[in-house]
Amino acid sequence: MCEAAVRRAGDDQPPEPEKGRDTVARPRILVVGAGFAGVECVRRLERRLGSDEADLALVSPTAYQLYLPLLPQVASGMLTPQSIAVSLRRSRKYRTRIIPGGAIGVDPKAKVCVIRKITGELVNESYDYIVLAPGSITRTFDIPGLTDTARGMKTLAEAAYVRDHVISQLDLADASQDPAERASRLQFVVVGGGYAGTETAACLQRLTSAAVKRYPRLDPALIRWHLIDIAPKLMPELGERLGLSAQEILRKRGVRISLGVSIAKAGPEEVTFTDGRVIPTRTLIWTAGVAASPLVATLGAETVRGRLAVTAEMTLPGFDGVFALGDAAAVPDLATGEDAVCPPTAQHAMRQGRKVADNIIATLRHRPLQPYVHKDLGLVVDLGGRDAVSKPLGIELRGLPAQAVARGYHWSALRTNVAKTRVLTNWLLNAVAGDDFVRTGFQSRTPATLRDFEYTDAYLTPEQIRERTVGSGHTEP
Ligand SMILES: Cc1cc2nc3c(=O)[nH]c(=O)nc-3n(C[C@H](O)[C@H](O)[C@H](O)COP(=O)(O)OP(=O)(O)OC[C@H]3O[C@@H](n4cnc5c(N)ncnc54)[C@H](O)[C@@H]3O)c2cc1C
Repeated sequence: MCEAAVRRAGDDQPPEPEKGRDTVARPRILVVGAGFAGVECVRRLERRLGSDEADLALVSPTAYQLYLPLLPQVASGMLTPQSIAVSLRRSRKYRTRIIPGGAIGVDPKAKVCVIRKITGELVNESYDYIVLAPGSITRTFDIPGLTDTARGMKTLAEAAYVRDHVISQLDLADASQDPAERASRLQFVVVGGGYAGTETAACLQRLTSAAVKRYPRLDPALIRWHLIDIAPKLMPELGERLGLSAQEILRKRGVRISLGVSIAKAGPEEVTFTDGRVIPTRTLIWTAGVAASPLVATLGAETVRGRLAVTAEMTLPGFDGVFALGDAAAVPDLATGEDAVCPPTAQHAMRQGRKVADNIIATLRHRPLQPYVHKDLGLVVDLGGRDAVSKPLGIELRGLPAQAVARGYHWSALRTNVAKTRVLTNWLLNAVAGDDFVRTGFQSRTPATLRDFEYTDAYLTPEQIRERTVGSGHTEP
């Protein structure tokens, strides 16, 4: 019996390589996506599997893991983009082969993943086990003008773009002699009253109200932020009272909140709400929910609201060697029961990543798989400055205690000490010296639709994938 097989489950030390094992083909584990779920999974596999037990590969378009919950703070300038881009190569111990690119299709029968490298070259990557953790994209609807006009808050480039765009509206309004143009450049619309949209509106409103002091010709009263949602409440997961507290904080800051309202039509210079109001604006930020990565559809597997329908062990029924998790998968929420599935949050994605690693190791060592069970720890919402609402373990907090919990939680969840130091230093510097409201201009001439930033049309159809794998030696006998 090999040494690995007699190790206890949960042992943290990988076994010593056995002599001669190098000549034996090792199982190939391919992880797709270096987000919360994918990185936790890879790091656990690196720690707990001996290098002779499996070959690990990770497909990622970026060389970092993005700490998404702090994106609104990048948009508002409280944090630099680098501080929430956590390096995948921080340590020499990280032995996984990183393939720079995106998976654009999976043929689960042939056990091949088609990857478009960052050079544009297509490669077929064979696997024995695949972990699908490509996360989600911004969910859109069939609203005229939406996909050409709206900007998201889902990638580092989108956050950097939105910041530059908002500051450029102040610059252009300041330079304009036309009152109508000034008024339209100084109105901003955020759609989506979940935590992502609420935090985005709150952080950016603080940015413009601080920045306008440096523009003596601009009337601060012209700056208007709108936060709208089709739902009757902001952040319903916070509960009635905390949701109302968040609403009150934003109203006091002058954010106009419209509930039960969405967008009927969007254009480059105005947005029409479903209640008939027409808002002259050049800024529409769309954060109305997420949809699973389009990679999911290439498998032809069963889905639940677009997310892969996996078991509680995060295997995909009927598909050998496929695990899926995070925002891309509908993982049964056993702690809630009934037919509940885990919400798309980092809290679940990280823990699911570790559990999938354990289940792959259990598979390799012929042990039973374990289901994923986690009771939600609550929610933290940073509204900028001293304003926050949090509900850790069901306890309702507001103001500074809520802010301390929100920042403390995010800070401790950052993976590396250097990322923690960067974020802390940024927070301190921002608290002491404020923001310089610099518009970098890097993004000004690049296309800026959701499609451009989130590569939503990069994927192959199941037929195209099959064409690539048939005849290339990758098909099943
Ligand atoms: C603004 C904002 C605030 C949030 N705040 C919170 C919060 O406070 N608390 C919380 O718990 N959650 C929060 N979330 C949600 C949380 O970030 C997600 O649920 C979490 O990131 C999901 O983890 P994941 O690993 O499934 O996906 P992600 O972390 O999104 O990772 C997916 C990775 O896959 C990569 N990828 C995508 N497509 C491909 C492909 N085809 N091939 C290869 N790689 C690919 C992406 O580049 C990315 O690196 C927030 C989200 C946003 C947008």
